[in-house]
Amino acid sequence: MHANDIKNFGILGWPVGHSLSPHMFRAAFDAAGLTNYNYIPIPVQAGRLMLAVDGLKWLDFRGCNVTIPHKTSVMKFLDAIDADAIIVGAVNTVVNDGGILTGYNTDVTGFISALTEANFMPEDCHAVILGAGGAARAVLWGLCKRKAEYVTVAARNGEKAAALAHDFANYAGVEGIDWTTEEFKEALQTADILINTTPLGMTPNVDAMPPVDISLLPEGALVYDIIYTPAKTKLLQKAEELGYPTLNGMSMLLLQGKESYRLYTGELPDEEVMLKALKEGLGL
Ligand code: NAP
Repeated sequence: MHANDIKNFGILGWPVGHSLSPHMFRAAFDAAGLTNYNYIPIPVQAGRLMLAVDGLKWLDFRGCNVTIPHKTSVMKFLDAIDADAIIVGAVNTVVNDGGILTGYNTDVTGFISALTEANFMPEDCHAVILGAGGAARAVLWGLCKRKAEYVTVAARNGEKAAALAHDFANYAGVEGIDWTTEEFKEALQTADILINTTPLGMTPNVDAMPPVDISLLPEGALVYDIIYTPAKTKLLQKAEELGYPTLNGMSMLLLQGKESYRLYTGELPDEEVMLKALKEGLGL
């Protein structure tokens, strides 16, 4: 193999040892016969981010994924940023085209593709989002792009939820509220979908769940938790017990990776292979 044929990829974060991306991408590259493609974890502390991003160019990396805590701070070191990533304010994928680094946010596509694959079409829906952090921004923008009619963002910090809603007010009807209020209970009663974007219920704190009375939701409303460990959070268990359809975060994780792969290679990966690798990485 000629040295110029080697294409390097990785995931940049701190800490990054727990990331499932190396499993997922290596499996997909292997399945496509791309034996000259490498994918490695790249642990980078915050103070070294600028040098690390510059290093991607010097080391001729073809691309990298970006995770906590660099998804927003990486943006100022890139040459160009895709429209979704600008609106969400975070980048999780960087592509290097001949020394020009472009940032993308594939969480938006991953979230929407997961929804539509589950046969939920967001057009004209009333969605309630729990949490007002980074993932909530990607979820909210996905819903706005797909013409949701109204979105309620509910969080423990009502001011933060209101600020997030304000940022997106030009794109859809959006409100941001405190989840301990009567207003929140009213919002649940007309919701077509409830989406948890908080880490409440994530391993190891599996007994936690957001303070939400699921039974207020209309019959048939989809309860979607973007957490993927455990596969069934307490929120999803309760929803299932009450007869609501549910969806966990595994497909969003898979489909954001699929979109990154497409940006890296111009091709679609073998989704089954990626899912199998993800499950193996999670010990499922
Ligand atoms: P983040 O930016 O830190 O935001 C977390 C949100 O949850 C904030 O609104 C935060 O409120 C709230 N929160 C955190 N701890 C809480 C608690 N104990 N009680 C009440 N609210 C709490 O995190 P993120 O990046 O949005 O990620 C959130 C979750 O989404 C994580 O579990 C992550 O694994 C998951 N995720 C999944 C995917 C996927 O592909 N499936 C993709 C991205 C993220 P404050 O602002 O008040 O702290």
